[in-house]
Amino acid sequence: MDYRAGELKGGIKLRATVMDIYRLLPKTNCGKCGEASCMAFATKLNEKEVEPIQCTQMAEKEREKVEDAIAPAVREVVIGTGDKAITIGGDEVMYRYELTFYNPTALVIEVSDDLSEEEFDAKVKTIENIEFERTGELLKLSAIAVRNKSGDVEKFAKATEKVKNSKLPLVLCSFNPDAMKAALEIVGDQRPLIYGATEYNLENMADLALEYKCPITLFVPHDLEKMKELSYNLRSEGINDIVLDPGTYVREGTGDTLDEFIMIRRLAVEKGDPDFRFPIMGVPAVHWIYESGLGTMVDKGIREAVTAAKLMNSYADILIMHGTEIWELIPVLTLRQGLYTDPRKPQAVDPGLYTFGELDENTPVLLTTNFSLTFYTVEGDLKSGDANCYLLVLDTDGRAVDVSVAGNQFTGKAVADLIKESGIEDKVSHRKLIIPGLGAPVSGDIEDESGWEVAVGPRDSSQAPDYLNKIKEEAK
Ligand code: SF4
Repeated sequence: MDYRAGELKGGIKLRATVMDIYRLLPKTNCGKCGEASCMAFATKLNEKEVEPIQCTQMAEKEREKVEDAIAPAVREVVIGTGDKAITIGGDEVMYRYELTFYNPTALVIEVSDDLSEEEFDAKVKTIENIEFERTGELLKLSAIAVRNKSGDVEKFAKATEKVKNSKLPLVLCSFNPDAMKAALEIVGDQRPLIYGATEYNLENMADLALEYKCPITLFVPHDLEKMKELSYNLRSEGINDIVLDPGTYVREGTGDTLDEFIMIRRLAVEKGDPDFRFPIMGVPAVHWIYESGLGTMVDKGIREAVTAAKLMNSYADILIMHGTEIWELIPVLTLRQGLYTDPRKPQAVDPGLYTFGELDENTPVLLTTNFSLTFYTVEGDLKSGDANCYLLVLDTDGRAVDVSVAGNQFTGKAVADLIKESGIEDKVSHRKLIIPGLGAPVSGDIEDESGWEVAVGPRDSSQAPDYLNKIKEEAK
């Protein structure tokens, strides 16, 4: 295939190249966008580092052409409004090393409308409050899904009423158009995700999506041809904010489900098929819904977390889960954080001098690198061990200790420069530096370059507080 980006041929649209985008720009190199040339601006547009509107030299029509050319292979769909809106989709590539994955998978927890009032409120509160910090980032859940498990229209409306003021966006789960309408009458102005349309209720659900201007999920289990047909029907009605759920099957393994997820994403990214260029939904909650008699709650929680991880690795943009145990959610939230970091940018913290606890001129001085995972691990260990120390953080372009020793970023000269620039020599009267165990190969080099005495500390920073206590005792 040799289709030019931004052009539709037989319904196919492929990703724009930098040259495709450049051809659409004014090509005057005026520099008013802050870039040296139109080519530089085109390169940044291609990398999503600037917006078309930053070129002030284009008329609206020309800008629309550029926006169309750079539109992602997978449409971005917004759920919720204002501060609590989340965006899913927006991906351009099949593999993360090619560019990056945009818009982290939304992790949504379902709450059934047949729970008692106390159980319902408690679960909503838990969902809203779950959070934990990892490498300086607060990891949280994304949305609440209200599920019409009772099948009762009034109960569904009542449950929806109770989450109306939640700080999280909503997914409304019912295949009954009457129940959906009752819920939308309460929260329709909050742009909840409608779940969902099937081949049996498509027309009614489509009418609701149009009336309330809400995104809609198309649930077509195990039949991509039918999904294509129904997606086309929705698009023909003027509905463009669609989420695709091809079904999550787990009883005989997740192989078929993963195949379908991957096939949908290939059709979007590699074939540009307009009926599949939408975010994909997975429902790991099926472990609780369809396996009521199978295994303990722990078994189900583990199976749900494993399925969530597999689906996330296979392009799921939104996952509906049931469990709220922190031991189940931490691995899923951590995996999401790892998948959605930009591989083009080093994960780094600011280099320099950091302080812990009470300090004086005898306070020990430790050293580490500015790889964020290393830094936050060391920081956590020093804080939890109530350590009193200075920590010099070396700029290694976000590389870990052993990697930067091998790559020549962690050198005697670099450490000597950091000692001088940080001003640590004015804060302590001694000249002793404790380096991480993995930095041992450059200890002599550091002594030669800096004139400081170097002690090789533990390889694992969890032992650093004990190590500091030991040298304090020895010094007495
Ligand atoms: S403002 Fe527009 S025309 Fe001027 S250099 Fe930037 S991209 Fe080119």
